[in-house]
Amino acid sequence: MEPGVDIKEAAARLKSAASVCVLTGAGISAESGVPTFRGEDGLWKSYRAEELATPEAFERDPVLVWQWYNWRRELLRPLEPNAAHRALSELEGCCKDFSLVTQNVDGLHELAGSRHIFELHGNIWRTRCTGCATVSTRREDLSDEAGGLPRCECGALLRPDIVWFGESLEPRVITGAVEAAKRADFFFVVGTSSVVQPAASLSVMAKEAGAYVVEINPEATAVTGLVDLAIKSKATLALPQFL
Ligand code: NAD
Ligand code: ZN
Repeated sequence: MEPGVDIKEAAARLKSAASVCVLTGAGISAESGVPTFRGEDGLWKSYRAEELATPEAFERDPVLVWQWYNWRRELLRPLEPNAAHRALSELEGCCKDFSLVTQNVDGLHELAGSRHIFELHGNIWRTRCTGCATVSTRREDLSDEAGGLPRCECGALLRPDIVWFGESLEPRVITGAVEAAKRADFFFVVGTSSVVQPAASLSVMAKEAGAYVVEINPEATAVTGLVDLAIKSKATLALPQFL
C-alpha cells in the first residue's frame, strides 16, 4: 500500500478511537536537547548510568549518586518541551479516554501540559524518602543541602524518585499502563527503541487487544515489524503533522 493511504487510514482510526494510549521514550525528548544515557554527552566523570542508577551504588556512596543526579537535573533545568510533547498534550484535550505512558524521567510531558501520565521509571524532579516513603516534587537545586545528602523531615535520607536498575516498577503505575494499553483502540509508540521492558510488551499487548498501532521513529526498532503503520521520521515533524 502507498504510505499516503496508510496515513489516511491511521488518521481515520484515531478520529474514531474511543480510547487512545501513547508510549514515549528518550527519542521524544532528544530534540529538546535531553542527553541520552548512551551518547558521549550522557557521560559524567566517565561513569556509566548502570554504575550509578542502582540501589547498591546508593547504599555504597549516596553522595556520589546525588552528585550525578544534581548534575543531570541542572542539565535538564533550562530545557523545554518541544512540538511533539505539545502535540500530545493537545491530543489529550481532544480525547475522552487518553493515557500517556512514558519511560522518560525528565518531566517534559507534564511541562507541556499533559495530565494523565504513567511515568514508568519515575521523575527526576521528585524525591522519595528512604524512611517514610513520602514522595515530593523538589525542583530547586539540591546540591548544597546537608553536605550533598538531602533529608526528609522524618530524618531519613531522600533518594531520587526513579526506578533504578534491578528495581521493580511501581505496581500502581505499571498496572495503569497495562490497562490503558489493552483498552486502547489507537496506540502510538514514539521515540523508544522498545528494547527495555515493559515498553516493548505494551505495544504487543495493545496490538493483541485490537488497537491500531502507529510507530514514530526515524530508525527501525524491535516493534516495527508488528505495527500497522511505521512513520520513519522525527517526532517533532511527524507528530504535529499527523495530528
Ligand atoms: P533509547 O535510547 O533506547 O531509544 C531512543 C529511540 O528514540 C531510538 O529508537 C531512536 O531511534 C529514537 N529517536 C531518536 N531521535 C528521535 C526523534 N527525534 N524522534 C523520534 N524518535 C527518535 O530510549 P528508551 O527506549 O526510552 O530507553 C532508554 C532508557 O533510558 C529508558 O529506560 C529511560 O528511562 C532512560 N532515559 C530517559 C531519558 C529521559 O528522561 N529523557 C533520557 C535517556 C534515557
Ligand atoms: Zn521521611
